[in-house]
Amino acid sequence: MTVNISFLGGAATVTGSKYLVHYHGRRLLVDCGLFQGYKQLRLRNWQPLPVAPAEIDALVLTHAHLDHSGYLPLLARDGYHGPVHSTTGTRDLCAILLPDSGHLQEEDAAFLNRHHLSEHTPALPLYTQLDAQRCLKQFRAHAFHQPFEPISGWRVRFMPAGHILGAASVLLEVGGRRILFSGDLGRPDDLIMNAPEAPPQADTVLVESTYGDREHPPTDILQELGPALQRLAERGGVAVVPVFAVGRAQTVLHAIHMLKARKAIPASLPVFLDSPMAVSTTGLFEKHLGEHRLNMRQSQALSREATMVQTTDESKALARRHGPMVILSASGMATGGRVLHHLALYAGDHRNMIIITGHQAPGTRGARIADGEKRIRIFGQEVDIRAEVVTLSCASAHSDANQTLAWLRSMEHAPQQVYVVHGEPRAADALRERIAHELRWRVAVPEHASTCPA
Ligand SMILES: [Zn+2]
Repeated sequence: MTVNISFLGGAATVTGSKYLVHYHGRRLLVDCGLFQGYKQLRLRNWQPLPVAPAEIDALVLTHAHLDHSGYLPLLARDGYHGPVHSTTGTRDLCAILLPDSGHLQEEDAAFLNRHHLSEHTPALPLYTQLDAQRCLKQFRAHAFHQPFEPISGWRVRFMPAGHILGAASVLLEVGGRRILFSGDLGRPDDLIMNAPEAPPQADTVLVESTYGDREHPPTDILQELGPALQRLAERGGVAVVPVFAVGRAQTVLHAIHMLKARKAIPASLPVFLDSPMAVSTTGLFEKHLGEHRLNMRQSQALSREATMVQTTDESKALARRHGPMVILSASGMATGGRVLHHLALYAGDHRNMIIITGHQAPGTRGARIADGEKRIRIFGQEVDIRAEVVTLSCASAHSDANQTLAWLRSMEHAPQQVYVVHGEPRAADALRERIAHELRWRVAVPEHASTCPA
């Protein structure tokens, strides 16, 4: 009886992570992510899984980002009633992120219906806020390093992966095999998150490859962000910063805090955090001291660094203010959320600035802006991009190719098999090549929907 893995997402693409491990008639799903980016990818969210949700015995999440957790409300609504195992941090973040994701799905559907923009009448949300709230009851939170059995005889352990609060690598022991899921690996030199822990010994490794074909530049975020914000302050412009509510929002806030303390930018530069989710997440840094580099004082400073914008009225009132100011708002790839209103309002003025802060999935508005497109569509309208576009190349929450290789190399023995996942085809293949040539390990990039021995 062999242990097999089906790659139901996160294979040859960054989003949609879903790895189904089967052994002896039992099934464990590791991650339950949404596909994001190109329409053709997003359509996969609407196709039924090759396995009935009710036939999955248990679920383990590496972390809370929606491309790892955002399919869960749908899986639960469609019949998955089992436990959802995660770290405490991931559970706390999912309680914020998943209901908001449901709310956004409902808003998008309502918008399409209002403007008769859908081929389907009526357009339906993928899932609702209520679906998301319901599935939160299924969470079982665990501490890092504490082994547990999601299925009798299957042992799982979470190890810190850096990246964002609660993010874990997962070691699964089943049927005599040790299978390691890297999850999203943080970078060892992250401004606020701890370095990923060295990997334990394993027979099979699934390693992420978001930056599999790239190295982060040797500069740091302060060197990139400082001069940009100084320029902005001098010309009285508005910087719109699409941020992921979890992770980048806090990194940018902490960076601004440090820049002001060093007098690299004016201490009076107003900063707004216009994302209720990011506001809630920022508060979690105080609850999870020890999982990140910030002490209590620095964690509290995050919340004081910006004016927290909660209601839509407060958000709309920002439009009546003049620059200079910095508006951090979700979503991080400008696929939805309040940031779209700010982009529509400010992108057309050359005094303003759009600051791109992390990986942008191909096909998203964020990727288009980062690629220098001069016109994008927002709410059915063409918007000219005349604002200066600044890409923070070092604000990524992912390890680069060298750092990922170093992480793998710190394993005591070579694993028998490595699968490169969670990367665009070019990035995944570049990392595969380096693992094959520099480490001389057996390595493959699995195809979407394929099944391989673990
Ligand atoms: Zn992630």
